[in-house]
Amino acid sequence: MSLLDNLNPEQLAAVTLPRESALILAGAGSGKTKVLTARIAWLIQTGQVGPGGVLAVTFTNKAAKEMLHRISSMLPINTRSMWVGTFHGLCNRMLRAHWREAGLPQAFQILDMQDQLSAIKRMYKVLNIDAEKFQPKQLAYFIGSAKEQGLRPKDVDAFDEYHRMMVRLYEAYEAQCQREGVVDFAELLLRSFELLGANAALREHYQQRFRYILVDEFQDTNTLQYQWLKRLSGPQGCIFAVGDDDQSIYAFRGARVANMSQFERDFDVQNRIKLEQNYRSVGNVLKAANVLIANNKARLGKDLWTDAGEGEPIRVYEAISDQDEAGFIIDRIKKLTTEEGMSRSDIAILYRSNAQSRVVEQALFNAGIPYRVYGGLRFFERAEIKHALAYLRLLDNADDDNSFSRVVNFPTRGIGARSIEQLQDLATQQGISLYRAIPLMDGRAQASLQKFAQLIERLRFETRGLGLAELVDKVVVESGLLQHFEADKDGEDRVENLKELVNAAASFAVAEGYFQDTAATEMDAEKLITPLADFLSHASLEAGDNAAAAGEQAVQLMTAHAAKGLEFHCVFVTGLEEGLFPHENSVGNTIEAGDGTSVEAVEEERRLMYVAITRAREQLFLSYAQQRMLHGQIRYHLRSRFLDELPEDVLKWLTPKRAHIASSGWDALDAKSWNNTASFGGGKAYTQKAANRPYPIGTGVEHAKFGQGVVVAYEGEGDDQRIQINFGRQGMKWLMLSLAKLSRV
Ligand code: ATP
Ligand code: MG
Repeated sequence: MSLLDNLNPEQLAAVTLPRESALILAGAGSGKTKVLTARIAWLIQTGQVGPGGVLAVTFTNKAAKEMLHRISSMLPINTRSMWVGTFHGLCNRMLRAHWREAGLPQAFQILDMQDQLSAIKRMYKVLNIDAEKFQPKQLAYFIGSAKEQGLRPKDVDAFDEYHRMMVRLYEAYEAQCQREGVVDFAELLLRSFELLGANAALREHYQQRFRYILVDEFQDTNTLQYQWLKRLSGPQGCIFAVGDDDQSIYAFRGARVANMSQFERDFDVQNRIKLEQNYRSVGNVLKAANVLIANNKARLGKDLWTDAGEGEPIRVYEAISDQDEAGFIIDRIKKLTTEEGMSRSDIAILYRSNAQSRVVEQALFNAGIPYRVYGGLRFFERAEIKHALAYLRLLDNADDDNSFSRVVNFPTRGIGARSIEQLQDLATQQGISLYRAIPLMDGRAQASLQKFAQLIERLRFETRGLGLAELVDKVVVESGLLQHFEADKDGEDRVENLKELVNAAASFAVAEGYFQDTAATEMDAEKLITPLADFLSHASLEAGDNAAAAGEQAVQLMTAHAAKGLEFHCVFVTGLEEGLFPHENSVGNTIEAGDGTSVEAVEEERRLMYVAITRAREQLFLSYAQQRMLHGQIRYHLRSRFLDELPEDVLKWLTPKRAHIASSGWDALDAKSWNNTASFGGGKAYTQKAANRPYPIGTGVEHAKFGQGVVVAYEGEGDDQRIQINFGRQGMKWLMLSLAKLSRV
């Protein structure tokens, strides 16, 4: 079978374009990723380029893996010399190969977001900075957005005292990172960008090497990523970009849809190819998506059609509570898997924010349904794993102060906070790392610190020449971590996870072709890097999918953001409530891109909803809850405006559709923002708020049987009007207003 079979004429034209830059602008499920992958395979198969001449960028590690998998199933080639990955992954690869030119230590470590915050906090201690006034998170954000615009401290314009201080802190942070040999995510990109700028020989080498550059999800590239692509491709560059402006959902991280038109200008793109046939979803799902997104004003404009049938209607469920919503999902999953024979891995549950997954997870767990969570607290972010990784990092680079601080007294070895402070002072005075400052200490503290240093030295010595998995195993045991958690009666999961880390190292070694003898692994000229350093950067970059047992069929849980580019037979989009989805911060707000442009935050939420809906191939369930426990509080929400925007004829309500739900969430939300938002579906209901409500929300009332309570919500009208009251220990009740004998207290 030819690679080109099964492509429609527009897709075929795109796949077989001559060597020129092109932009494929097309909606969800129209085959953009398929076209991109087929083009790579076709270029190689027809001898226009070797695997080493291709560079492809995707948005997630999962997508990159999928792409490599698809290519190797089409062609019998070794994909290792192909550069396919995320921006971060590719920049890491480049910096590993040219660490010296980039001014980095060979074994530089990558800080994830949490590491970055603890690095900032450590710096604050040394510099005596008020963490209330200059919040670590704010500084991290400030540094991140500066780097994403390609700005070093000297390039940032500070217009007031506060920002001048932020710039100084940015500078101090950079110095600390450089001293410790660590880089954060944004640094990977900026460093690689600067490297290409400063080193002409290197730049020309890569420009000649990568004859074909392909970018998926182009709408979500930020300024620096775009400039990086431009620099890498060079004057003769050829970039094949695919994207969908309706799926731009990363403006909050600096993504610019405007990169699309800039790309067309910069690369003299002759024709913009459109793909309009959707091959993913049934008609009802597609219609819902088209109608929904038409509510956005800022669009390049395009429509999708399908010749698949309508399929089943989209089912909508109004739950009483988040528990009830989870119960509904479990029931449906059971039906789907038993009666319809659907595989669990064909089912996805999507939500707006990670905090929402807990209730669903609990319900799945209780029902004995295997599931896997993508994103959230990833495997490599769990505390015990981070402890183990810190030990491993110290073996590789003892100057890594973050790792040092994390484990110097974990498990406890009687090294107190005072000693660490002293050590920190010495290190700062001398401008050296904590590890190197140990010999400068005196007294008892020195002895215990010295013992820690000996442990690290001994481990380094004893693991020399071991295979990766053995090495990890040895460190987990000899560091005392395993024993520490084994002694903890609640430490069972953590012990399991530590063992899983050894497995992860073993599979990594196999996947990357590292064999027992470390010396024999330098087979790949580009990989002048130890297996351990390679594994550690993998750990920092990878969204670990190791949570559910490997190979087990599991229901997939993830945020709508994480679902981008993926597809499933059946999708549940949950928590469709005002304040949740759209997110409460979005209503009436704009997101500034930092370059003077901005986007409407609610439009961005709507695009996210569009992404969520268009993941479904055959079945789509939408649900929301009248009340939900979130961040330790019960919250009452209105039905999401996005539900009201969907065309009624493709929906099937499993619970009666109510004209509106009034609740206390109404009052809790900013009433101004409702008035600002012309498109809000429940706008009519707002005026009815003033209708017959004898007891305003929040007033105390007395009931003959249930005693005293507080009014929480109303629903319905006239004789059917009901009132919801929280009777404290007697619970929350819905009562018919006309019948309930209430009095004010
Ligand atoms: P998204 O915007 O969500 O990333 P996309 O445009 O990248 O979507 P793909 O994931 O490439 O779309 O394709 C969607 C689905 O349609 C896939 O299952 C793909 O295999 C299928 N598909 C694409 N083109 C064709 C075709 N010509 N014939 C049959 N199936 C196709
Ligand atoms: Mg895609």
